[in-house]
Amino acid sequence: MKVAQTEIRSRPSGTPLSEQNRAERLARPVFGSAFTEHMVSIRWSPEPGWHDAELVPYAPLPMDPAMVGLHYGQVVFEGLKAFRCVDGRLGIFRPDAHARRFRDSARRLRMPEPPESMFVDAVSALARQDQDWVADDPNISLYLRPILFASEPRLALRPAQEYRMLVIAFVTEGFFGREARPITVWLSEEYCRAAPGGTGAAKYAGNYAGTYLAQEQAAARGCEQVVWLDATERRWVEEMGGMNLFFVYGDSPRPRLVTPPLSGTILPGVTRDAVLSLASDLGISTVQTPISVEQWKADSASGALTETFACGTAAGITPVGHVRATADSWSVSDGKPGPVTGMLARRLAEVQRGRADDPHRWLHMVT
Ligand SMILES: *Cc1c(COP(=O)(O)O)cnc(C)c1O
Repeated sequence: MKVAQTEIRSRPSGTPLSEQNRAERLARPVFGSAFTEHMVSIRWSPEPGWHDAELVPYAPLPMDPAMVGLHYGQVVFEGLKAFRCVDGRLGIFRPDAHARRFRDSARRLRMPEPPESMFVDAVSALARQDQDWVADDPNISLYLRPILFASEPRLALRPAQEYRMLVIAFVTEGFFGREARPITVWLSEEYCRAAPGGTGAAKYAGNYAGTYLAQEQAAARGCEQVVWLDATERRWVEEMGGMNLFFVYGDSPRPRLVTPPLSGTILPGVTRDAVLSLASDLGISTVQTPISVEQWKADSASGALTETFACGTAAGITPVGHVRATADSWSVSDGKPGPVTGMLARRLAEVQRGRADDPHRWLHMVT
């Protein structure tokens, strides 16, 4: 009989990677490739609930071809980072906020909700085990990827009754490489990412496959990312594929930060939330209000809108320099990175690396 057990058993045996293998993985840590040596695995079934929590060597999974997650998409995930701090320790950025969102995503997909303490323990255990993968280099961080999927092999059209949670990790330089170079974005007028009442606010695997076609159109027009508009009017700016958007109004003497409100079709970014707090800490006023494409263009042209940036865990804070659409294109702040974007990006990086005060207690130190 299985017993409930969420305390993580450590079985980090297996053959460690050779130094050469590790060096090869770390030589080019392109996003999502330089995986570390271990993973956490936890199972769920109606009785006894969460059990078999263990830290094991990273390895392929045996998979039943009728696994529900594969067929009907009951799969949610998270993405959070650990940073090498000035005192040499590893700090995980806001694991509690990611744990809450993981629960919310699971609830939306009618999956069991992983307890927040179990989530924090799982990401901490893996970060602790593989911490020596993270060099003392400000461009490097450890990206932790928790995932929860329906593992029951039964194709009835109902929520599965068996689930598996994994946490894996990889070392990364940042999504767009090392520099914060302004990106060019594509307004998708043909496709949409999320509709009212849908799954857009959940970090649900199926939300991403639907964006690749638009991403390909963006790339064909020389754009790095897609900006999604609302599904109803195709007029209101929502977010990018994996980042939330902010608009800086240069109102003197103090700038003002505008971001669309969390209406249910926007993913509630932890970085978005952090930027709103950091801006307030720095005396920048913040407004959560819808912004239309016309307004983005007109205010960029008039100079009232001085900067646009995107933010998310993977890429941090990234300036947006140019906007393209089928029949239109414009630049923001002459395509250069702006001072407010720079100030917020620096501040965020300082907090993440333990170089600045952490009044919100966002860093969870790995001991
Ligand atoms: C993960 C994600 C974000 C950013 O969220 P963070 O918590 O800041 O990383 C934004 N949009 C989408 C669609 C996402 O999946």
